[in-house]
Amino acid sequence: MNSVKRQVNKWVSRSLDRHVRLAVTGLSRAGKTAFITSLINQLLHSATNPRMPLFAPVREGRVLGARRVQQSQLHIPAFDYDLGIQSLRAHPPTWPSPTRDVSEIRLEIRYRPEKGAMKLLQDTATLYLDIVDYPGEWLLDLPLLSMSFDEWSRKQSGILTGKRKELAEDWLEAVDSFDPLADADEKLIGEMAAKFTAYLHACKEEGGLHWVQPGRFVLPGEYAGAPVLQFFPLIGNKYGESQLANAPKGSNYAMLKQRYDYYCQHIVKGFYQEHFSKVDRQIVLVDTLQPLNAGPASFNDMRMALEQLMQSFRYGKSGLLRRLFAPRIDKILFAATKADHVTPDQHPNLVSLLQQLIHEAWQTAAFEGIDMECVSLASIQATEPGMVNHQGETMSALRGTLENGEPMLMYPGDVPSRLPGESFWQDNQFEFRQFRPMQTDVDEPLPHIRVDKALQYLLGDKLR
Ligand code: GDP
Repeated sequence: MNSVKRQVNKWVSRSLDRHVRLAVTGLSRAGKTAFITSLINQLLHSATNPRMPLFAPVREGRVLGARRVQQSQLHIPAFDYDLGIQSLRAHPPTWPSPTRDVSEIRLEIRYRPEKGAMKLLQDTATLYLDIVDYPGEWLLDLPLLSMSFDEWSRKQSGILTGKRKELAEDWLEAVDSFDPLADADEKLIGEMAAKFTAYLHACKEEGGLHWVQPGRFVLPGEYAGAPVLQFFPLIGNKYGESQLANAPKGSNYAMLKQRYDYYCQHIVKGFYQEHFSKVDRQIVLVDTLQPLNAGPASFNDMRMALEQLMQSFRYGKSGLLRRLFAPRIDKILFAATKADHVTPDQHPNLVSLLQQLIHEAWQTAAFEGIDMECVSLASIQATEPGMVNHQGETMSALRGTLENGEPMLMYPGDVPSRLPGESFWQDNQFEFRQFRPMQTDVDEPLPHIRVDKALQYLLGDKLR
């Protein structure tokens, strides 16, 4: 009898085990690695974590514990939690090195279901949480799927103004003497693609710009050095479109076009089919502070990149994505990261700025069946709020240690609650510094701001 009961219990448990695939994305340096490291760390401490009052299952004492188990997709690189936590616990602590490719990790969370159907059937249940990390830059490639090589070249030509044009000088000079109708020269195309890629990197690193296409060129992952990442848009060429349309099969033009088409079919589509289509919940991390610091060009560019990135969640009824796969994401959280860079009184502004940034794109698109929310958070809190006396007035401030070890008490400035206009950029007093993470003990969960709120939105209903 007992063994029958045990069997039934085992069967019930198995049928009630749940899986959630949570994807974490954001443009590079948005804070993905820090967020995932903190999220895992908070959950590994979840049985007794005092830092999670906003995550109901932990607050209610229903989470019995979490542990790492083998991930389900064995061919995807594992997210290196140990390395990340090792740098955060070092003396002095340092930030984990960012991941530059897709990676994955699986947690098994044991919990006591709330009163209700699950509770009647069993006392404890298991949630398997797959956390997938992928670069937000890859989402910038979606529009390529509906553009021919010529259309893409025209589009790229249209954005080559101002700072971008300056940064592209070296590559544009080479394009000038490039003959698309000449016999295909693989070596030359490789060299020119390297110049084009260097321009894309310069956009990000020197120009503080975010919108780069093709996204894989700056974060190639496993395709680094492959011919599929060696092409470039054909800009200002001396031939008309009809001449190019009749270009011989073995020409430079044909090779560029073939590589572009291959990129769309295999790399872009491949990502959506293999990774994106399997996601249940998504968090998009946005560093709104870096572009506020960098100026209007960087800010507007990030806005454009965000709008582009959001198109990937716009399934509609007959959209391109729906034709590619059956999407299943039902909740997206947009998070303004590094909230500990500004004083707590500025956190509401950070959220409303993020809401403004995505509002228009969200309103005008058909995001059917997806629930969306915005939050501000610090995955790993590196500063503490304090007070300073300035000319007889007490002001809120931040206290922390700069990366060079210097202690610092400062007021970084006000975050605009709306999209910044001319006047903000003119008397912009905003300044933030890179702080080093705070020293923590091995047994102590990492300090954070509102990671528990993010978890409540993303997983709260899965742990009922
Ligand atoms: P990724 O490229 O998206 O994986 O970004 P990372 O997680 O590597 O973060 C980039 C950098 O942002 C880190 O090295 C830190 O300097 C900073 N950072 C990330 N998260 C936080 C945070 O919560 N607080 C603070 N103060 N800095 C952060």
